[in-house]
Amino acid sequence: MDLRAHARIDLDALRGNVVALRAKAPQSAFMAVVKADAYGHGMVPCARAAREAGAGWLGVATPEEALALRAAGLDGPVLCWLWTPGGPWRACVEAGIDVTVSALWALDEVVAAATAAGRPARVQLKIDAGLGRNGAQPADWPALTAAARAAERAGRVRVTGVWAHFSCADEPEHPSIAAELAVFRTALEQAAEAGLTPEVRHIANSPAVLTLPEAHFDLVRPGVAMYGISPVPQLGGPADFGLRPVMTLTARLASVKRVPGGHGVSYGRQYVTPGETTLALVPLGYGDGVPRHASGTGPVLVAGKWRTIAGRVAMDQFVVDLGGDVAEPGDTAVLFGPGDQGEPTAEDWARACGTIAYEIVARVGARVPRVHTGVA
Ligand SMILES: *Cc1c(COP(=O)(O)O)cnc(C)c1O
Repeated sequence: MDLRAHARIDLDALRGNVVALRAKAPQSAFMAVVKADAYGHGMVPCARAAREAGAGWLGVATPEEALALRAAGLDGPVLCWLWTPGGPWRACVEAGIDVTVSALWALDEVVAAATAAGRPARVQLKIDAGLGRNGAQPADWPALTAAARAAERAGRVRVTGVWAHFSCADEPEHPSIAAELAVFRTALEQAAEAGLTPEVRHIANSPAVLTLPEAHFDLVRPGVAMYGISPVPQLGGPADFGLRPVMTLTARLASVKRVPGGHGVSYGRQYVTPGETTLALVPLGYGDGVPRHASGTGPVLVAGKWRTIAGRVAMDQFVVDLGGDVAEPGDTAVLFGPGDQGEPTAEDWARACGTIAYEIVARVGARVPRVHTGVA
């Protein structure tokens, strides 16, 4: 491949991950979370592959993402959850997208949109079980469920789901987990008392799919694990959970040259060559999503060995010191991949940069082409 750089997206691995995750929650429906361009992996191809592997539902954050799935021909259940006033409620109602409502203002807007569209909206109600983002506070839940039930009786909405999101599911011993499950169960009871009959009740993200069977309910909602990244790296890597990383980020060396000792490398001369050596230039930088925090610490496989980025990551490029080793312009540098060819993983990058692997893959920029393999 003669691209400057590309992210190879292994859709066979993604399908395998969906199958592995479905086996962890065999009684529950499966929602493939494909928000944020499928965590950087390309939303539409990943959504198609997930559906092929048995994901009945697709989940995204914004209504624009949901509408883009429909525009690409993905039908079937789609849920979105991040709304602001004046959002494209009517387009979503007309497209049969499930919309999430956490407050009365949003219910009012969706009822108005359904009235204008002349068909009922599919609405899922969200309770704030403790995360403190969206979701109705427990004190406001009876009023929200009663209003939703009234709108349902009036034929404006159909309440298809009730859901919540954990704050600390990636720390399986955390006391908040039991507390949030209790809030969720109470909210489900109150919704039933209000006369609501949701098809799906759900709270499980990737860590809960893997470690909390009691949280599986009617549907599970994994994201990062589907991309082959462990959501609980302290408990095990992807292979320990039957998962395989989907993204491999590579670039081709843009320059290889000998330099004398004492030569500065990149802005600020944070790295100075300890002796005569060979420098290789990797044409990816923070403009492509390589964290600037990886300066002097990010790992990369070049000429058969792990190297550490020499000096600062710039907008478009960074440098590695090959020491006495040999490489040619055009040779491949692997930033991260599954790890079984000796390359670093996204988790290695996360550790080097003080972040989580979610961010490493999701931040890969639009300038990096995604090359999907295993397209059905
Ligand atoms: C992102 C997200 C998920 C998926 O989380 P993972 O930890 O990637 O599995 C599930 N539900 C909601 C509401 C989300 O925002």
